[in-house]
Amino acid sequence: MDCEAIQSSFSACWQRFLACFKKPSEDKGQRRRGDRPETGAVSGPVESANPNDLRPLPPLPVEKAADHYTALYDYSARTEEDLSFNTGDTLEVLDKSNGDWWYAEALTGISASKRGYIPANYVAPVESIDAEPWYFPETKRLDAEKMLLAGGNQQGAFLVRNCESQKGELSLSVLDSGRVKHYKLKKLDNGHYFVSRTRTFQTLKELVGHYSRHSDGLCVRLGEPCKKMEAPQTHGLSYNTVDQWEIDRKSIKLLKKLGAGQFGEVFEGIWNETTAVAVKTLKPGTMDPDDFLREAQIMKRLRHPKLIQLYAVCTMEEPIYIITELMKNGSLLDYLRKEGSTLRISDQIEMAAQVASGMAYLELQNYIHRDLAARNVLVGENNICKVADFGLARVFMKENENVYEAKEGAKLPVKWTAPEAINQNKFTIKSDVWSFGILLYEIMTFGQMPYPALTNYQVVQKIPQGYRMSCPPGCPKVMYEIMIDCWKENEQDRPTFETLQWKLEDYFDLDVTSYDDANRY
Ligand code: AMP
Repeated sequence: MDCEAIQSSFSACWQRFLACFKKPSEDKGQRRRGDRPETGAVSGPVESANPNDLRPLPPLPVEKAADHYTALYDYSARTEEDLSFNTGDTLEVLDKSNGDWWYAEALTGISASKRGYIPANYVAPVESIDAEPWYFPETKRLDAEKMLLAGGNQQGAFLVRNCESQKGELSLSVLDSGRVKHYKLKKLDNGHYFVSRTRTFQTLKELVGHYSRHSDGLCVRLGEPCKKMEAPQTHGLSYNTVDQWEIDRKSIKLLKKLGAGQFGEVFEGIWNETTAVAVKTLKPGTMDPDDFLREAQIMKRLRHPKLIQLYAVCTMEEPIYIITELMKNGSLLDYLRKEGSTLRISDQIEMAAQVASGMAYLELQNYIHRDLAARNVLVGENNICKVADFGLARVFMKENENVYEAKEGAKLPVKWTAPEAINQNKFTIKSDVWSFGILLYEIMTFGQMPYPALTNYQVVQKIPQGYRMSCPPGCPKVMYEIMIDCWKENEQDRPTFETLQWKLEDYFDLDVTSYDDANRY
């Protein structure tokens, strides 16, 4: 498309783009700053206080149970309308109608008696199990180990999480002499919990309390709750950018160039002088804005801890900005090449498991990525990996139509692309699985170019004849077997991402902790 055509298509494209970010509920009244939302509290009649009136006082008005919440993480206000708070602070939630951002009053802590917005995923109801500092329900076994082994945790540090192998059951993970042990928390028919049948507890809190006082058969007495590694991503940048994706370009300051991609440069930036973000720019005139905005459209609908979150866009003038969460360590490819010598096999497998988890979510959503490779995975702190660049992803709605065809003349990353995608233009989640196998090779070789001795042309010739890369040096056989499974000629014989995820997550699942030999798993 030439430059003029790009300009003319731009405004139509922008309208379509904005329309797709509008929620049907947008016509509900906009709250202005300073408006006081309803608290729901019932206030009694106001009586004049007459000291000579000795009649019994009317009963006090019954207050509706207050919506009190405990902060699970620290949060620094990003706008004048939101509240700063620290872990453990109590907040009264006054209005939840804004979805992911609630209006609240701080009852304790640095913002005590101030009101403002808070990210709903940073708090849990007071006295609820979710508010317990040791309750990490969605934490996988592997993540539990990583968190407990991270600096800052002492002997006896622990957490309670959902058991992966048995739905509805809980597990207790404990740090003991530099190793993490896992116990199953079982439940009796009467709802009581136990580690060993000899002692049962009405609540989890009582169980934790007991084993915090005595080891009583556990490997060690429970100490401090595991330190939380990092707060989760908020949904959007602030309460009013969740639905309003367009933000003022002046609120973004570009600080440092991080890299350059297919469509333009990527910068580290700061939003509203408070929040670190990544800013992807579109070089004017180089690309149909439709293609670029498609990436944003897809990203905004996909929310998963292992996928890069889209925060906002600036599209009123060029260059268009796409604002996403910032990943401190850049692309996985650069990270593997730079940090390779410091990574252990467990780190490599864990990173692969994270990518598989993000991809399993895409699989469930009927999306395909189409360009899965280490260069399109980003790394944050503590080797956290997230899949980025869904620019080429396509939705496939009907089961028998789950095929995407590349445009004529599209350049393909040949060494990552499945043979049926190269030869028959057939892109499916199974061609992503093939690419995942190549990504595993990149991880296990610390970022080596796949098929190092072959040209793209030779790869296209040799793959249909059955040629596959051999096991990289130092790569465990089990990992190589997974790669080979991903490279099965018949795409239906390749595993699903769900299977890949659990296979990788279960890789270290061989150690067993016994409680007096009564609670083995
Ligand atoms: P891309 O245009 O997505 O291929 O990005 C080009 C390069 O910019 C990547 O290889 C990364 O080094 C860097 N980059 C892109 N997005 C981010 C992000 N969200 N956080 C940190 N670095 C990024």
